[in-house]
Amino acid sequence: MSRDASIKAFEEAQSLIPGGVNSPVRAFKSVGGVPVFITEGEGAYLTDVDGNKYVDFVQSWGPLIFGHRDETIEKAVIEAVKHGLSFGAPTQAETDLAKLVVGFFDSIDKVRFVSSGTEAVMSAIRLARGFTGRDDIVKFTGCYHGHSDSLLVEAGSGAATFGNPSSPGVPADFTKHTLLATYNDIQSVKKCFADSKDIACVIIEPIAGNMGLVPADKEFLHELRKLCDENGTLLIFDEVMSGFRATLHGAESITGVKPDILTLGKVIGGGMPVGAFGARAEIMAMLSPDGPVYQAGTLSGNPVAMAAGLAALTKLKQNARVIAVLEERAKRLVEGMRKSASSYGITMQTDVRGSMFGFFFNEKPVKNFADAANSDAELFAKFHSGMLNEGYYFACSLYETGFISTAVTDEMIEDTIRASAKVFKAITNG
Ligand SMILES: *Cc1c(COP(=O)(O)O)cnc(C)c1O
Repeated sequence: MSRDASIKAFEEAQSLIPGGVNSPVRAFKSVGGVPVFITEGEGAYLTDVDGNKYVDFVQSWGPLIFGHRDETIEKAVIEAVKHGLSFGAPTQAETDLAKLVVGFFDSIDKVRFVSSGTEAVMSAIRLARGFTGRDDIVKFTGCYHGHSDSLLVEAGSGAATFGNPSSPGVPADFTKHTLLATYNDIQSVKKCFADSKDIACVIIEPIAGNMGLVPADKEFLHELRKLCDENGTLLIFDEVMSGFRATLHGAESITGVKPDILTLGKVIGGGMPVGAFGARAEIMAMLSPDGPVYQAGTLSGNPVAMAAGLAALTKLKQNARVIAVLEERAKRLVEGMRKSASSYGITMQTDVRGSMFGFFFNEKPVKNFADAANSDAELFAKFHSGMLNEGYYFACSLYETGFISTAVTDEMIEDTIRASAKVFKAITNG
């Protein structure tokens, strides 16, 4: 499989764009090799600039649950484009999408649209701070909530739960209000509440997808809810990734734990840039222009993006069984790969939530970031490039989740499993 054109394109890109990419994970840094430059997507497949075809298990990092160029979404977008790209004034499509979104979740009465998950989370946290009149927030190590300043934190020195900036350019003054806890560990959250009486919100991916796929234990989420209630703290579920992927009605529908604020993104835009945050009416009333908490966006609720989101979510609503079908396929895929790995003496931990799948080359089950980081990164890199050479496009980092789209057939799943056996064989012989 030649990658000459990708190599050339990447060289040129690097001379003009930092690292040659507009989002760092795309650069293939953790798996080595050169990122493939894409010319086209069609259904389950990606085609690169060298003309190679791959079965795509990344799906633009989540949004494309119906695969590339879904006919319904494409039509809706083209129709919207004909009426104008942007107005900066309200359109009916925003209300229609809001109605649809609110209808999916028990926990939210109103929703505001933005243009990315980062923006949704940043705004949700400002809203929580405005509503509670408090400054501190709690986040979990390994959960990703976009790249806003106060969320780029890592553990500080000593036993304190207050975080340090994880990136240059973030003032320590901004992250000193972010406390860090350990995923699936309620004691670590209790320690945060002991360290601060000023916690506005706890933010969590209830089904974490940014340290590989690591769902929170149900019991842990119930205890988290209780702790928040006892302390007058809001609970934010960041479902930018898991929303409409793990289930249609949010983690609340499978765990029985309701968040105070919910953030969404990815699938909600059907492939266009859309993010959203919602809450019960009392909380949303704090938001500008109804209330004093400021939040705005020139392209927020963009009509073309709304059209794509409406088409995607309408299709999901009409095909409510779709998640169960994708889950069955995802299970078959990871189970098949696990068996292939096992027959070559490799232990794989696997998990599935709806159309999301995850796997770790790890002897032990993964419950938090430290567990995930204990996985065999070298083996993952070999697996990744082996599968890519076989024509299977998996996420280029062991900390990412895989996605099944409706365009992935049972036959493709079987082929992927067969290819994985071939790759494991080559890895273990080499
Ligand atoms: C992707 C993601 C974000 C950030 O969304 P962007 O659209 O990339 O800004 C936030 N939270 C979670 C859980 C995500 O998976």
